[in-house]
Amino acid sequence: MRINLLPEEVKNRISSGEVIEGPAECVKELMENSLDAGATFVDVEVIKGGKRYISVRDNGIGIPSEDISKAVMSGATSKLRTLEDLQSLSTYGFRGEALHAISLVSRMMLRSRFFQEELGKEIRVEAGKVVSEKLVGMPVGTHVEVYDLFYNAPVRSAFLGKEDTERRKIYKVFKALALANPKISFRLRAEGKEIYHLKPAADIKERAEEILQNKLELITREEDHLRVDLLISVNREGRDTFLFVNGRPVQNKSLSEYVRKAWGKAGLVLCYVRVPPYLLDVNVHPKKTEVKILK
Ligand code: ADP
Ligand code: MG
Repeated sequence: MRINLLPEEVKNRISSGEVIEGPAECVKELMENSLDAGATFVDVEVIKGGKRYISVRDNGIGIPSEDISKAVMSGATSKLRTLEDLQSLSTYGFRGEALHAISLVSRMMLRSRFFQEELGKEIRVEAGKVVSEKLVGMPVGTHVEVYDLFYNAPVRSAFLGKEDTERRKIYKVFKALALANPKISFRLRAEGKEIYHLKPAADIKERAEEILQNKLELITREEDHLRVDLLISVNREGRDTFLFVNGRPVQNKSLSEYVRKAWGKAGLVLCYVRVPPYLLDVNVHPKKTEVKILK
């Protein structure tokens, strides 16, 4: 899909801002891009809790070679053209800010081959500037490598947690997206060790049981335009709550508390909510981890 630069008036109406607080946000944005590109396999690797190195590789549709340098510009997106498009949004991304924000504070390698082209193109970006560009042989898809996040932003670097802390945040982001996309195959390696290698699962229950190592029970409720799938641990083990709205891992305190009270006084609870896209406002927070369900 061709990349366009969002017009100023659209840019001003979407809540953008700081999206990259640390390695986990970076992993999240890159994995979401892979999923938006229709990948069936997403391969993630991190070193030193992502501070030294992050790699996300996919077999999605790729980026047209003519557009690859555009992809790291502010407001460059193939997913949104007008504000009206927000009402029928089916992608994780829409602001065209993530690659730009990451490229400003790292050394980035972006390599992609579009499905209608014979060759791929690779660019290297340092502190937001494209420093080299070349054609490369590669399979269809995209590979992004991020070296030395915040190397040129020492203050932000100082605010990062210890390697362990950052790694835990990455696992959380990875798990949430894998739980939200059961049919997609994922792999995560950290410090050279394979942490997850997930084959395509039949449904959310199979994927969740594999990731969370827990026997789960599925309860489905459907009413009007709303569908809720709940997964609850059979033996009431675990404590985590996971919320998804239209496939997007989200945080919502009141919904979390409500779900816990109703179904999961103890144990793991996963709650997958589906509403028609026009009833959902994802444009309330730059991180897109909060959503508003409209009446
Ligand atoms: P957004 O996801 O909000 O559009 P990003 O900055 O994350 O903004 O990405 C900019 C654009 O680069 C995307 O709209 C898409 O066209 C392209 N892109 C980024 N990552 C990938 C990928 N893994 N596969 C295909 N295209 C990608
Ligand atoms: Mg994106």
